[in-house]
Amino acid sequence: MEHIDSVVIGAGMVGLAVARALAMAGHEVIILEKEAAIGTETSARNSEVIHGGIYYPKGSLKAELCVNGRHALYRYCEAHGVSHKRCGKLIVATTDNEIRGLEELQAHGLANGVDDLRMLSGAQAKALEHRLHCVAALFSPSTGIIDSHGLMLAYQGEAQDHGAMLALESQVNSCRVLANGIELDVGGAEPMQIVATNVINSAGLHAPGVASRIEGLPAQYVPTAHYAKGNYFTLAGRAPFSRLIYPMPEAAGLGVHLTLDLAGQARFGPDVEWIDGIDYSIDPARCQGFYAAIRTYWPELPDDALQPAYAGIRPKIYASNEAARDFVIDGPSVHGVPGLINLFGIESPGLTSSLAIAERVISLLKA
Ligand SMILES: Cc1cc2nc3c(=O)[nH]c(=O)nc-3n(C[C@H](O)[C@H](O)[C@H](O)COP(=O)(O)OP(=O)(O)OC[C@H]3O[C@@H](n4cnc5c(N)ncnc54)[C@H](O)[C@@H]3O)c2cc1C
Repeated sequence: MEHIDSVVIGAGMVGLAVARALAMAGHEVIILEKEAAIGTETSARNSEVIHGGIYYPKGSLKAELCVNGRHALYRYCEAHGVSHKRCGKLIVATTDNEIRGLEELQAHGLANGVDDLRMLSGAQAKALEHRLHCVAALFSPSTGIIDSHGLMLAYQGEAQDHGAMLALESQVNSCRVLANGIELDVGGAEPMQIVATNVINSAGLHAPGVASRIEGLPAQYVPTAHYAKGNYFTLAGRAPFSRLIYPMPEAAGLGVHLTLDLAGQARFGPDVEWIDGIDYSIDPARCQGFYAAIRTYWPELPDDALQPAYAGIRPKIYASNEAARDFVIDGPSVHGVPGLINLFGIESPGLTSSLAIAERVISLLKA
């Protein structure tokens, strides 16, 4: 049976970043991906925003890896020609009683190491974006947008340049912890069994399911998967703003915000819709809630301007009535299985954090 240094399960943004880092550290790497192409799940269904790192609890992995990951990501994009734009973002208070919340966000961001946030008056914000309605805004100049598929291709290319192999249509069905590594049963076009010294479970929405099928991993280290869909609606016509516009954050999401893609197309979302299974369909009626939310900061939004676009699903590891949880990156010191790293709950800001998550995986394998 084939024995390899490291297997990465999942060729999304994070799995590819991890594979790249492992290959560059000298590991023999195979990336196993169940679909026929890379990055067709959450990594293809997100806002493509390079986040500042403002919102996350101080000391959390999300805060640390987002801020470190953002710096690394901008350097990476510049060095590798990945399309991106440091367009900046405004978080807006639309009533006086939201101003306090903005000040708290600024202090929170600073505590996380986001040291370039600037509080703007309503008039200053309007001078930047003249169609914006707000009484104050917090400006984050280092928030940006990125071509997420271009980034994945760059990670894949570099991983392969350092010897990594990508096996598409190769679903990992089950694993077993052995004395000399972890055995994987791989289905798909060419079923095979592989033994790996290290296995990185980066299966996104399916990571808890994959972990539950690892014989030898105690069940207490496998969280229950929960899903929170985020629906997007695109705006017909020209984008009214040149920066990203966010309302005050809400439970489980960042509020119905406006993001732009690199072609300048505006889209609104994602909202938060807790669902029981993976289902990307969009109920067009949900846009009614969007009109009301958007008009708090863009009153001129015309009727019938929004069209259903796409949906992504946040890989939650807590239910809607439970406290929010941080990224979980569990290595052997947590669960006791040598060489196994499980990545759970890699929701936003997972794209921004991808390089920093990969570094963390490498350091856990060395520990
Ligand atoms: C609505 C939404 C908006 C977001 N916006 C942003 C944003 O603006 N900025 C930001 O930083 N982050 C954002 N994120 C988060 C970001 O998109 C994710 O953190 C990131 O894409 C996760 O990448 P991943 O590789 O972990 O997962 P995925 O992209 O889901 O990749 C997992 C891969 O594993 C494969 N797989 C699953 N099971 C198996 C198996 N058994 N065998 C083999 N392969 C398997 C899947 O096919 C898939 O390709 C957003 C997320 C959502 C849902």
